[in-house]
This record gives sequence, structure tokens and C-alpha cells, in this order.
Amino acid sequence: MKLKIAVLPGDGIGPEVVRQAIKVINVISKKFGHEVEIKEGIVGGIAIDNFGDPLPEETWKICEESDAILLGAVGGPKWDNLPGDKRPEKALLRLRSGFNLFANIRPIPIFDELIFSSPIKEDYLKGVDFVIVRELTGGLYFGKPKETRIENGEEVAIDTMIYRASEIRRIAHVAFRMAQKRKKKVTSVDKANILECSRLWRKIVEEVSKEYIDVTLEHMYVDNCAMQIVRNPKQFDVILTENTFGDILSDEAAIITGSIGMLPSASLGETKKGLYEPIHGSAPDIAGQNIANPIATILSVALMFRYSFDLENEAKLIENSVRKILSLGYFTKDLFNNNPYAKKLVSTEEMGDLICSAI
Ligand code: ATP
Ligand code: MG
Repeated sequence: MKLKIAVLPGDGIGPEVVRQAIKVINVISKKFGHEVEIKEGIVGGIAIDNFGDPLPEETWKICEESDAILLGAVGGPKWDNLPGDKRPEKALLRLRSGFNLFANIRPIPIFDELIFSSPIKEDYLKGVDFVIVRELTGGLYFGKPKETRIENGEEVAIDTMIYRASEIRRIAHVAFRMAQKRKKKVTSVDKANILECSRLWRKIVEEVSKEYIDVTLEHMYVDNCAMQIVRNPKQFDVILTENTFGDILSDEAAIITGSIGMLPSASLGETKKGLYEPIHGSAPDIAGQNIANPIATILSVALMFRYSFDLENEAKLIENSVRKILSLGYFTKDLFNNNPYAKKLVSTEEMGDLICSAI
């Protein structure tokens, strides 16, 4: 199979972690006999510095012509004071809306070796394995009107939460299809006791669930869900939720795994083309030191093989190789401290090489 991949390293630790991910792409493709065509594009702050645009035309073209996009991270203090529509992060929003990537998938894997880095107690964590499916292009973040105006001499700010049935339906299908391949349970999270949008959400999700009789559906209020994620995370398989709730819950879920440097994400649409990136940012505080953890980006490559190329064996092998290296006690700096499983402190490059050798 020929794999056409756009790679956008970006800023800060982005290029360092992406370099390791490229090694993994090459090694796994060679092993399984796939031809890879990787094209690199400039994105984020570095693109602003060189082209005055966080997502230059040339980069967009590279993404358009590829089957999947791998992104490092964008942004940093140098660009923090630019106006909203000129900031590095704008590139991400343009990629998401340009390719209609409405479903954000964040698996929450628990690695036994990292349980000591988690704020949650060991008994609650063993065997935890769930996915958050977050609606990415609707709701409060995009609804109009969205403005601040003066009323009776006072500033008044308005955000609008708006959802169309069709938007809810398509993300619900993503969640149910995913649950069919997993533990066959969807927890739909809303605030239907208060919000109009949530009432429509619940109604449409109920309708969609009738097409998936092998999947159990339960509804949960978002405040309760926030509590359950730390109280009993084992109960979840697929959490389906709207944009704002998903943003908050996925960060909460991320911290129970032990390190932000471990977590991958996928943003998907109606087609197979997806955008894959670690959930962490550009981490300017550790950039250029060869100490960043590349695993989140490497696990994002696994998601790419799974969702964009339907190559499940390749995805599994990448994930198992990460597990293998952790079980041997090779940890980057973010994981190393106070962890009884830690045996050898390794650099970004070394971690990439170790995972490649395990593959
Ligand atoms: P953004 O706004 O882009 O999300 P941020 O400053 O909010 O950026 P991160 O860039 O994710 O967040 O950094 C948060 C903290 O986590 C920093 O201290 C950073 O060094 C650390 N961190 C982030 N990613 C990694 C990684 N891959 N390996 C090790 N440490 C990391
Ligand atoms: Mg952040």
C-alpha cells in the first residue's frame, strides 16, 4: 500500500518529537512492505516568521494532496501577543475546518508502568481503557452571535451554543462505530436537565443508537462525568460529548494517565483523511534539549495507521512496542522521577530509536 503523509513539525519540541515519529513511520512501513511518501510542510510560528501566515499556501497544498497529516505542535511565547486571527494556533483551526474534521478522538490508555506518575490510586487505574469522542466544529466555540457589546453603559459578552441535528448525528455515528470495535458501550455526556442543545443531543443520540443494537447506550450529566472520571474510570468505554464539555473532560482524563507526553489524538471527518497530533503543546520550556517525550506523537502515528489507512496490525505493533520499551524501564525525563519502574533515563532521540528497534 502507498501511504502519502503530510508532516508538519511546527514549533518548540514539535520538530524533535516529529523526527522520532518519522523514524517509526519508516520502520513500520518497511517491515510491512508499504511505500511511504512523506512531504514536510511549514506551519505555526515558524511559518509566520517566514511567510507571514501560520498556514502558508504551499503547506495547505501538501496537506490536500496527502492521505493523512501528522502535526507536531504550534505556538510559543514569541507569538503570544499577536491578535487572535494571526496566531500560530489559527493554522490548526483552518486545517480542522478546511478538511471538515469534526470528530476529535482521544484514547486514554493506562500504562501500568506509569501508574505511579498518576494522581489517581493504583486500584482505580488498572485496566482503565477508554476513548473520548469530542465534537470539534460546533457548539459554543463557533456559534454566532459571538461578541462583546455595550448595553446600558456596561460591557456585555455573548457566546452562543448551537447544534444542528445533522452535526449531532454524524458524531454519534463515529462513537457507536468505535464502540462496536471495543467494549460496546457508549456514554453520552450532556447537561440535558438545563440546556436546550443537550436535549436535542440526547434525542438524536437515542435515535442513532437504534442502528447499533449490539452497543449499550447510557446518558450522563457532564458534572457527574467529571467526577466519575476520577472516581471510577474503569466504567467507561466510549465517551461521546459536544465540543466544550469534551475539551474540559479530555484534559481531565489526560492527567489520570500520568504524563501529558504520552497522549495521542486524531481528528477525523467523513473521509479517511485525518489529522494526528500529540495533545501536548510546543513546550517551549524544554525545547531544543532532546529531553521531550516523543511517545504521544509516536502513538499518534499508530492512530494514523488505524484510522486513515485501516492498518490495524501496524497500529497494534507500534502500541505494543511502546509498551515493551516502557516495561523495560526506559523513561524520558517527564516519566522518570519517583517511579519505581524507572531504570534508565533516555533522551528524545534514544526513545525514538528504542521504539524502532522494538518494532
Ligand atoms: P499549548 O498552549 O500549546 O497547549 P502549554 O504551555 O499549555 O502549550 P504544553 O506545551 O503542553 O502546554 O506544556 C505543558 C507542560 O508539559 C510544560 O511544562 C512542558 O514542558 C510539559 N510537556 C509538554 N509536552 C511534553 C513532552 N512531550 N515531554 C515532556 N514534557 C512535556
Ligand atoms: Mg495547553
